[in-house]
Amino acid sequence: MKNKYNIIFFLLIIVFIASYLYYSKSIDIKEEIPIKENIEINKEDYLKIYFMDVGQADCILIDNNKNYVLIDGGNTIDGKKLVKYFKSIGIEKFDYVIGTHPHEDHIGGLNFIIYNFKIDHFLTTNIKTDYKSYTNMLNALENENIKLEIPNINDTFKVNNLLFKVLYIDDNTEDINASSIVLEMNYKDTNYLFTADTTTDTEKKILDSLNEVDVLKVAHHGSQYASSAQFLLKTKPKYAIISVGKDNEYGYPKQVVLDKLNELNTKVYRTDELSTIILSSNGKDIEITNKYTDTNKE
Ligand SMILES: [Zn+2]
Repeated sequence: MKNKYNIIFFLLIIVFIASYLYYSKSIDIKEEIPIKENIEINKEDYLKIYFMDVGQADCILIDNNKNYVLIDGGNTIDGKKLVKYFKSIGIEKFDYVIGTHPHEDHIGGLNFIIYNFKIDHFLTTNIKTDYKSYTNMLNALENENIKLEIPNINDTFKVNNLLFKVLYIDDNTEDINASSIVLEMNYKDTNYLFTADTTTDTEKKILDSLNEVDVLKVAHHGSQYASSAQFLLKTKPKYAIISVGKDNEYGYPKQVVLDKLNELNTKVYRTDELSTIILSSNGKDIEITNKYTDTNKE
């Protein structure tokens, strides 16, 4: 009889240790990090931005009342998982898909998007490369009969209650990052800036057209060759999102960039720490939470 209790006791200990190990591992990523709790979101008119966890890459999904815009599509390896995730939240069509510049970590997954969703407008730069992901993207567009549109600086377009403005685009192949499409977005009283992989040179060129923003997608995964002090002082972001891979080979985000943001009291959120970062807004208040989506792992 005593032996039986010993065995039960022993089994209980094992269960206890196993669950301890399991849960202590899973608190690595916090499930919720609201910066402002319970802001009132009107189901008929809201903004949601998903900074997707695509490792060392960019992929930003914007949802305004079920009208969808996609800025970049992660690496090729992310394509299938992004399609699965977007379908799981009910997306069938994108009003706009934007490939900010023809580098693998921005357009790599876009061919999957092109084959799996309807797309009204597809914007990208006029830079032609012979990268495989660029050829894949062009082939997909051709097969799906989607026209490639090259916007101009100062072009604006509307998606439901969102107003977009192209602050920069170039066809300079010498520096593809500096040629990235830079987009400003306005939703009611809130402003957003999507900088792709832009550089300090481009930041200087667009300085006069910059406004203060609530949210900044930090340029080039937190590279030291962007996010100049001048640029940050002009945009004064309240919140900054850095899309960056865990332990990436470039050492992004650079400490010098984090220090500058810190000096401005900007709250920084990073996909390497939080996985997918989800921003919600009613056009006045902003709430930021995160969700572990595991899109960048097999
Ligand atoms: Zn990049």
